[in-house]
Amino acid sequence: MRWTAPLALYAALLGPSLGACDPSAVPGDGVTPARLDDTAVAPNPYADDPYALADSTVVLVSLDGFRWDYLDRAETPTLDRLIAEGAHAAALVPAFPTKTFPNHYTLATGLWPENHGIVDNSFYAPDLHETFDMFDSRDNQDPRWWGGEPIWITAERQGVTAGTMFWVGSEVQWTHGISATYQVPYDGSIPFIERVERVLYWLDQPTDAPRLVTLYFNEPDHSGHSYGPDHAYVTDAIEQVDAVLAELVAGLEARGRLDTTDLVVVSDHGMTALSDERLIVVDDHLDLDRVWVHSWGPWMSIWPMEDSETDAIVAGLQGLPHTLCAARADLPPELHFSVGRRVAPVHCIADVGWTLTSADWGAGSFRGTHGYRPSDADMQGLFVARGPHLQPGARLPATDNVHVYSLLARLLEIRPAANDGELAPFGAALRPR
Ligand SMILES: [Zn+2]
Repeated sequence: MRWTAPLALYAALLGPSLGACDPSAVPGDGVTPARLDDTAVAPNPYADDPYALADSTVVLVSLDGFRWDYLDRAETPTLDRLIAEGAHAAALVPAFPTKTFPNHYTLATGLWPENHGIVDNSFYAPDLHETFDMFDSRDNQDPRWWGGEPIWITAERQGVTAGTMFWVGSEVQWTHGISATYQVPYDGSIPFIERVERVLYWLDQPTDAPRLVTLYFNEPDHSGHSYGPDHAYVTDAIEQVDAVLAELVAGLEARGRLDTTDLVVVSDHGMTALSDERLIVVDDHLDLDRVWVHSWGPWMSIWPMEDSETDAIVAGLQGLPHTLCAARADLPPELHFSVGRRVAPVHCIADVGWTLTSADWGAGSFRGTHGYRPSDADMQGLFVARGPHLQPGARLPATDNVHVYSLLARLLEIRPAANDGELAPFGAALRPR
């Protein structure tokens, strides 16, 4: 099936959109995220490398909420082919909290959420005295929220054209004026197949076709929340996204481009089943009039009204069953969630499948969710990659998603910005030079 659209629609999607917002501090207190005040185009560091594949393209695809083991419970011929012909990690381990916005932006920047500043899907920022809302397009464009340097900016700064067919952070209007050349603001109503066709249209441009493309699908996450991960409708959603990947692969093959495209398919987190019999009601352990709780469910972020009450609040929470409660400085170091002004002073993290709630909130409507510890297997996602830089048959252990940015920079043969990840964990995925 071929999809076509009026040229006027595409014309609206083409061309750079230059930002012009107020200068601002970069969020995060830990490592200093990359500063984006240098607009000079850097030379290609691999220009003299005889093995460089300067004409290759990277297509980064996110299948939201695709748990690592979904491959085993549905028909996924396209992913199976990419795995057979490419690299596959046992799981892609998300950053904490295992939520959509923090993890897509960690994938894009190589920074832990405490350092890139997008610490939840919505959160309070004491540095701005405002609350971020993932559904608010102004917040998605306002650079004051967004730290670090996403891969499409790293690419464009080094002369590599980029296109974003949706990604968290792709709509930011950076103060330096650099943006992806091709960019579509998020619109979940655009059918999946049309997203693929739009990417192929970009790749067909005779001049300035992108060498980096991001592509996002909000399934099987949506079905996982609505029905729980074990439902037949989730199986349908898994097969739906595999079928749309098949259209992408077929489109690349029809153009003779499949073998010059590094196709990287990831997910941001997994999904676990909820039950009304696994509720943790906090009212007896926490005076809800003395705190402001931003998140409920898998994880609570708690802002005491008075800083001096923090220790007493943490002490009162210690009797909560099936829950780890701690001041942020005392959270397990592997969570990388102890610094950064936007990380709340106190956190409670439920055991996987349990729901932290109050008498007022009740059980909620989700049948499945995510947000628990990254070490919980149900929270872990997908990593599959095939292309000219990638070693056919490579098999990797479960790998942290903070390193994906370094891999993308390597595939594009550009210099990564300062970040928390490194290339080595994905070294075994690369074809030897
Ligand atoms: Zn998600």
